Amino acid sequence: MNAPTDATAVLLTDSNSRITRINPAFTALTGYAAEDVIGQRSATVYLPAENEPAHSCVELETLKEKGIWSGNITLKHASGKIINGLQTTVSIDNEAGEISHFIHIIQPPESMPGEHHQKSQLPNRQLFKEVLSQELKNARRKQTQLGVLLIDVDHFKVINNFLGFEKGDELLQMISERLNKQLRGNDLLASLGSNQFAVLLPELAHPEDASIVTRKLMKTLERAFQIGGQDVVVTLSTGIVIFPGDGDNSESLLQHAEKSMYDVKAAGRNGYQFFEASIHNSALNRLSMESEMRKAIEREEFVLFYQPQIDIESGLVVGMESLIRWIHPEKGMVPPFHFIPIAEETGLIGPIGEWVIYEACRQTKAWQEAGVGGLKVAVNLSGRQFTDKQLLEKIATTLKQTGLAPDYLELEITESTIMNDIESTIKVLEELSEMGMALAIDDFGTGYSSLSYLKRFPINKLKIDKSFIDDVITSDDDATIVAAIIGLSHNLKLNVICEGVEDIDQLHWLKENKCNEIQGYFFSKPLPADEFEAFVRERNGL
Ligand code: C2E
Ligand code: MG
Ligand code: MG
Repeated sequence: MNAPTDATAVLLTDSNSRITRINPAFTALTGYAAEDVIGQRSATVYLPAENEPAHSCVELETLKEKGIWSGNITLKHASGKIINGLQTTVSIDNEAGEISHFIHIIQPPESMPGEHHQKSQLPNRQLFKEVLSQELKNARRKQTQLGVLLIDVDHFKVINNFLGFEKGDELLQMISERLNKQLRGNDLLASLGSNQFAVLLPELAHPEDASIVTRKLMKTLERAFQIGGQDVVVTLSTGIVIFPGDGDNSESLLQHAEKSMYDVKAAGRNGYQFFEASIHNSALNRLSMESEMRKAIEREEFVLFYQPQIDIESGLVVGMESLIRWIHPEKGMVPPFHFIPIAEETGLIGPIGEWVIYEACRQTKAWQEAGVGGLKVAVNLSGRQFTDKQLLEKIATTLKQTGLAPDYLELEITESTIMNDIESTIKVLEELSEMGMALAIDDFGTGYSSLSYLKRFPINKLKIDKSFIDDVITSDDDATIVAAIIGLSHNLKLNVICEGVEDIDQLHWLKENKCNEIQGYFFSKPLPADEFEAFVRERNGL
């Protein structure tokens, strides 16, 4: 039996703001079951009070001083709705007199004294953008897709004039309730202003799923609303954007969704449209890219840049990552992000990748002969190269041709490449390792590799992804993850390097937490060969 919604909801958190217990009234109020939230940070269920970013600090100060705090809070319902409430928090001390737990007692709005029944509100534009930014970060990290629907209620002005403002608002409320019922737990419905809604669809398996949801939303409105003794039928015009592809921040995604929504309006309303301009452009781009890339190999338009890898203890350069650049005759320098994915799809990564390995080995050997020795060169291998049956043979030939000893070559493979086919991957890795090469897992933390597998791989190094380093100072979660990965690496006798170190605070933190090496703009961007050589000579005192 469900607890009545007006019962007092109780939430227990530990001193690290992790939720340790909830009662049934909390579930009834917020829609979260115990298994959804226990072990999560309390920020999962609370929204920071608006205009009061220091909310939790104020709360904490008062608690330390008085042992009790009371005030207004905002909770996020599992469905995305917002719930206002009055909360009283009491701190519980352990034997040493330190705070060990907090008990939060929440009175839902219905039972708040002096207030009439308050309807649940949807998140507003500001909040939607914040959540979207956060989800974009997750999508980048996990390499998943997300969708945003921008929904406009057709002819709402006419309906509003007809019904009157009060009834108009009531209708919007009824619409939002019906829409919400069609959404999954992780989807978020927001109100963007008078008659516009936005829906965030995180972790979309296929872009088409966004249109399936849109059709469901349209369908649920086919049944008339009864309002003020009238039957009212409303229709929707929806613009759809998908990340990645249609924008890379919340602002641009919303703009593009809005553009598509207006296209639907212009085409007669009651429909939906994807932001196809980007799909169209990228397809065109792809075709011309492919033929130009074929020529680029012959015309020798590819070059390698090198980014120093620094030993955190000695401060010396101990290696470099080779990073490809395309010097296009008209477009100038094209970053790998623009052409590597196309090269992978078309198979052009084969010849390009072979050139990269050759050039990196040749250059490293040349530096050794010029007195800039002892440096390991890291080369990125794409998944497609890794499944090439002749990979081992090709590398052996390259080493022979260039005269580079295998212990100076390190191959970087991403987690997803490894997880594609674990058994055959282990075999190839073992052979590479027997040949004397070092193996590193790139972008570690972004994929889904199970940590228990790491033991089975003959790898030497983990490269922790930049996205974790970005927030290592500002996010407790990221700091915990990075510290755990470093600890794990040491346990497994792996070297650990962090990428994307941009400032001194990150450097200090990583040094304190015993990271071995770092790579990032703080020391240097990737450099052309001659500038890299000058950098090493200066830094290593050669
Ligand atoms: P990656 O292997 O993870 O390389 C690290 C990327 O992070 C590089 O981008 C580097 O310039 C950038 N980076 C390093 N430190 C910082 C920093 O402090 N701040 C910021 N904002 N960025 C930093 P780049 O050169 O654009 O390469 C992007 C990706 O392209 C590489 O990611 C790699 O996956 C791929 N790639 C590059 N060269 C090759 C190649 O020769 N073969 C293959 N298969 N892929 C390559
Ligand atoms: Mg790399
Ligand atoms: Mg990386």
